[in-house]
Amino acid sequence: MKYGIQNPKSKIRIPSPPKKTAPALFCLLLIAFLGSCMQGEEKIYKKSKIMMDTVVTITVVSHSENRAEHAINSAFSEIRRLEELFDFYSLDSDVSRINKHAGLYPVTVSHDTLNVLERAYFVSDKTGGAFDVTSGSLLALYDFSRGIKPQPYSIEKRLPFVNYKAVHIDRKDPGVFLEKAGMLIDLGGIVKGYAADRAVETLKKDGIRSGLVAVAGDIRAFGLKPNGKPWKIGIKNPRAEGKDDDIMATLDLRDLAISTSGDYERFFILEGERYHHIISPATGYPVRTCRSVSIIAGEGVLADAFATGVFVLGPEKGINLIEKMGFSGLIIDQEGAVHVTSDIREKIEFEKTFTGHNKG
Ligand code: AMP
Ligand code: MG
Repeated sequence: MKYGIQNPKSKIRIPSPPKKTAPALFCLLLIAFLGSCMQGEEKIYKKSKIMMDTVVTITVVSHSENRAEHAINSAFSEIRRLEELFDFYSLDSDVSRINKHAGLYPVTVSHDTLNVLERAYFVSDKTGGAFDVTSGSLLALYDFSRGIKPQPYSIEKRLPFVNYKAVHIDRKDPGVFLEKAGMLIDLGGIVKGYAADRAVETLKKDGIRSGLVAVAGDIRAFGLKPNGKPWKIGIKNPRAEGKDDDIMATLDLRDLAISTSGDYERFFILEGERYHHIISPATGYPVRTCRSVSIIAGEGVLADAFATGVFVLGPEKGINLIEKMGFSGLIIDQEGAVHVTSDIREKIEFEKTFTGHNKG
């Protein structure tokens, strides 16, 4: 007999029951196959909008254009909702209300604002204050679109209002309180990653199993493309001179987030100096140790805030911290040298047009 279990002691052969699983499995596979044929083949759908002062692109994989469109629109609505909570300038955003009541009394805010502030505090702590959302009063002195830099005495006067430890967050009775009148929080360094996280959750709730949300350089990927391959992400060349060298490197991303902070995003050049939007909370001036920092982490909110904080720390301390946190990262320093965490050294593909040195 070919089939059956051999009892070693009795040497009696016990016949196996006839196998019913194969036909059942075949039927199931056939149903699944027919089902997928009826749904149509999986395709990639993509839509972009201007939100959070930047371009937001949502890409999803779906069998149906209608479902894809519905899911993408829900994700955009979620980002719009967050944009309204975190807007520094609008009068009734959570951020504005917290700032207006600095030194007066705690303000009731949404759970999203509490989440972001708690994460911001965590990142401030881990970066030794290099990431600090209370840099808002200093940032408000710069006008990047009109190329205006503050006078040194204005910066001096505002430095005492920068201290992440003076942000009090109360979960029990939702309230946020800034200790001193004159303090301002600016969540620009963390909310784009948070918005990408929330948008991905919305897409998943709408049944999307694979997609990509890019809030400018804050990107979160999940699932695989219809061809079974991971999403390929391009990292911007911080000193691109034309369209051909806009992307310096690519890497595959699956169920992870990547955020890039760069001195090329919002800047002006004055008397040969580049004034850009990432400042040292300790000095009030733009930091000139890096051109760009990319961080890969499980959550967009952390990738985003750490990318900004590591930019302030500079390449050496930055790479050490990225590795200590268990993230991956790539830093282009002020001389154009590339610093990469060891785990992704082999996974990054640099474009031929990219002339940075020390790759690896
Ligand atoms: P990102 O593009 O994520 O690096 O964010 C840059 C934005 O973060 C700026 O436009 C500011 O709103 C804010 N920001 C600048 N410097 C800091 C800092 N040291 N800590 C926290 N936020 C900052
Ligand atoms: Mg950031």
